Amino acid sequence: MKDITVLRSFVGGQFTAGGGDLFDNVSPVDGTVVARVEEADQAVVDRAVRAGRVALDGAWGRTSDADRVAVLRRIADRIDERFDDLLAAEVADTGKPFDLARRLDVSRAAANFRAAADTVAGAGLDSFLSESPAGRALNYAIRKPLGVVGVIVPWNLPLLLLTWKVAPALAAGNAVVVKPSEETPSSATLLAEIITEAGAPDGVYNVIHGFGPGSAGEFLTSHPGIDAVTFTGESRTGSAIMQAVAPRVLPVSFELGGKNAAVVFDDADLGRAVAGLARSTFTNTGQICLCTERIYVQRGVFDEVAAGLAEHADALRFGKPSDPETTTGPLISRQHRQKVLSYYELAEQEGAKLLAGGGIPDLGPEFEGGAWVRPALWTGLDNSHRTLREEIFGPVAALVPFDTEDEAIRLANDSDYGLAGSVWTTDLERGHRVAGALRVGMSWVNTWYLRDLRSPFGGVGLSGIGREGGVHSLHFYTEPTNVCVAL
Ligand code: NAD
Repeated sequence: MKDITVLRSFVGGQFTAGGGDLFDNVSPVDGTVVARVEEADQAVVDRAVRAGRVALDGAWGRTSDADRVAVLRRIADRIDERFDDLLAAEVADTGKPFDLARRLDVSRAAANFRAAADTVAGAGLDSFLSESPAGRALNYAIRKPLGVVGVIVPWNLPLLLLTWKVAPALAAGNAVVVKPSEETPSSATLLAEIITEAGAPDGVYNVIHGFGPGSAGEFLTSHPGIDAVTFTGESRTGSAIMQAVAPRVLPVSFELGGKNAAVVFDDADLGRAVAGLARSTFTNTGQICLCTERIYVQRGVFDEVAAGLAEHADALRFGKPSDPETTTGPLISRQHRQKVLSYYELAEQEGAKLLAGGGIPDLGPEFEGGAWVRPALWTGLDNSHRTLREEIFGPVAALVPFDTEDEAIRLANDSDYGLAGSVWTTDLERGHRVAGALRVGMSWVNTWYLRDLRSPFGGVGLSGIGREGGVHSLHFYTEPTNVCVAL
């Protein structure tokens, strides 16, 4: 029998020596145990937060921007060198196809560190002269790190989302205590080795493993030694974290759930629109916060769009992550599949017509222990149904017809969430007009998930608080002190 690795928390430059409870990290491909993970108890979390503080009080707190930029670039280079290790870790935890993890997840980890390095390297002082009857003065703001930042991330794009936060946090001079999802602990653990190999001092990057409530996640957010929390995950969890940090009024950056809409006008390039919608609905088995779950289609092209999308759904190929024919992996876990399937039932109860997919695919005994699900496309529902109001986080979408531009905007904006949206049209003015009118943090025209890492990323409403990316990240991960000098 193969030896099963034990993943441990990483504190002050060392993997912890053991003692906590072990839990299984299970492959969603076939239900086999990938690794065992040692849960961090309160004492480990205390040590991790203290290690961050010690790093800040020591060499890390005195590094120049230039030296930190050099460390970040070495981390990016080391990620490239250990690309295959990270790829294997990410695929083992998530079951996603290698090809997707290679293109989307691991390459973005290195890009996140390079982008954060570039931002700090290019950032200048905010300074200005002020003149008033009270006098003339030079104002300038000195940006200082927040301190020890708690970083809590989910399982859907584990390394991408982790590095998206860790890179700018370190670039700005903070120390971090990271809590990866209990479902995907591997790449955050490997990153500890990489960051150490790249020469970051001990205590700058700490990892604690475990769950949320009553475990490492809650120990971290309620810890008096942390100075800020950056979190990606469910809106409900964001609310719980907000309550945990409220007594200390800590700064938070929250990237939360979505119930994203696409709007397809009858003047759209339909081939391009349908391919884009398929990508935005089915990529990563629908488990990206930006994925589309509501599709509003102008009535004249409704049937054509529905038929085209159903064809894409039927063409998805399940299989091993290593099989180049595989387009679609499993959901992250049996538990998550139960949630997704409960919405398949709900949609039926609400009167939906199933256009394609539905249920569990029969992939044979090899995959029986996995968390596989077929996609689902529904028609016959509207915004009054829970299926269109609640985030499902699976390979699903409901298609709803509309007649006018105003109606499309009203329907798309009728949501408690407001993360992302896409508009499909060949009318240039309409594209700009509708994309700008959507009540979301990010809006695309004739594309989806095309990202420039300098642009502001985040959501409104239940989809989050604050923006990260480029200077927006730098602003969150620093606190300015304004100095006013009388002239
Ligand atoms: P989740 O909220 O259940 O868990 C996320 C992380 O929070 C995990 O590490 C978990 O252990 C931890 N956690 C849970 N409860 C906690 C608590 N009370 N205190 C502290 N930590 C706690 O989310 P998930 O199921 O892992 O991820 C899926 C969700 O993430 C979806 O809602 C998705 O939309 C969202 N998401 C948002 C973005 C974005 O950028 N807006 C990106 C990816 C995923």
